[in-house]
Amino acid sequence: MRRLRRIKIFATLGPVSSDSAMIRKLFEAGADVFRINMSHTSHDKMRELIKTIRNVESSYGRPIGILVDLQGPKLRVGMFGNGPIQLNNGATFVLDSSKEPGDADRVHLPHPEILSALKVGDAMLLDDGKVRLICEETSPDRAVTRVVIGGKMSDRKGVSLPDTDLPMSAMTNKDRADLEAACEAGIDWVALSFVQRAEDVAEAKRMIRGRAAVMAKIEKPQAIDRLDEILGVSDALMVARGDLGVEMPLERVPSLQKQMTRMARRAGKPVVIATQMLESMISSPVPTRAEVSDVATAVYEGADAIMLSAESAAGKYPVEAVSTMNRIGEEVERDTIYRTVVTAQRPEPEATAGDAIAGAARQVAETLDLSAIICWTSSGSTALRVARERPKVPVVAITPNVNTGRKLSAVWGVHCVVAEDAKDQDDMVDRAGRIAFRDGFAKSGQRVIIVAGVPLGTPGATNMVRIAYVGPTDTDV
Ligand code: PGA
Ligand code: MN
Repeated sequence: MRRLRRIKIFATLGPVSSDSAMIRKLFEAGADVFRINMSHTSHDKMRELIKTIRNVESSYGRPIGILVDLQGPKLRVGMFGNGPIQLNNGATFVLDSSKEPGDADRVHLPHPEILSALKVGDAMLLDDGKVRLICEETSPDRAVTRVVIGGKMSDRKGVSLPDTDLPMSAMTNKDRADLEAACEAGIDWVALSFVQRAEDVAEAKRMIRGRAAVMAKIEKPQAIDRLDEILGVSDALMVARGDLGVEMPLERVPSLQKQMTRMARRAGKPVVIATQMLESMISSPVPTRAEVSDVATAVYEGADAIMLSAESAAGKYPVEAVSTMNRIGEEVERDTIYRTVVTAQRPEPEATAGDAIAGAARQVAETLDLSAIICWTSSGSTALRVARERPKVPVVAITPNVNTGRKLSAVWGVHCVVAEDAKDQDDMVDRAGRIAFRDGFAKSGQRVIIVAGVPLGTPGATNMVRIAYVGPTDTDV
């Protein structure tokens, strides 16, 4: 089974997409990676979903990626004594350390470290930004605020602090337990919510010990200020537009999305555009024109992947949402303007053998009009460097390591094949041709270019290119 688009699709699983029949349909419609959202999934359910996905994977014989998304430190206010309250513009409202039920004048903020970190002038956004407060007095046990934008408030509503550097890790105890359970169950990617600094990612990596790759969700202004260092230690980025649009002015989200996409492309690390991409399809079988245009923008920018959240997890049209993304991806990538845009943003190769060879392979493949670039890759790094070139020619990654194949399912344009390691260079060239033929990337008599590191199995040692004819139509690989 071969996809006709280069951008990848992530589909979140949830109540409407938990059984094998539906996961199969989503995969057939175009989902490349399945996301399990730990804000709404128990450990047992997570393990069951992973098992179901792995069964679907083995029945298609194609690697499928699994991303487990950790909830992160979502801050909330305490409870109110007599139901919801109304906060009026200009009023004073206090958040404090007392567990007493709240009223129209005050409420408990059950995060003592936050009260200590707040500064005069810091904004506090309640309930996804619907209510806005400004701190006028702070102390370790109470913050006195002025209501700038009023509204209704009720029990356990979320709190965002765009101006405050939170003295906390991006992982709560729940996240640590979820992370360990996910790594034990065997997953490919972990997404970290509300990352503020590189150290948050480093801490997760210490716990993961190489069992999964780490995607930093960029949804806080503190992370925007430190994008370089966060990207440096992460394996991928997610542009988490939901919370980002609460913590930053909404009109900054499009430029931040472009900035992050370009930075990740330059680094050769995958970038996923997420949230509200086809939001109206939660209840409608067709998206709005604006949503189609939003998805297309991500494709034109050369992002690695686009993601569905509630559309595939809890909506009425999960399969239609995936196939809509699939069609938009295919259509945009057929447009000649797409090639121009993606090429114009191609970064120069970095001064490494891997990049120099990836750049050369792309050039040779395009100049000679070869049928495919085929990488033999054990860690996936050769395939990532080739994908960074965003070549016009299809990219096939052959790996003996099933985990590499699954991880690469998140990467732009990479068709992953898990196969036994090559015995020697002749075997490598021969089987590359046969796999390209079998999967419909080359016909007999056409040529492909093969990129690898020899001796095989030395991660990061890309040092070989070969042009080869695809031989007889014997498809045994
Ligand atoms: P969430 O992340 O759905 O876990 O909040 C995505 C976002 O904030 O956009
Ligand atoms: Mn979020």
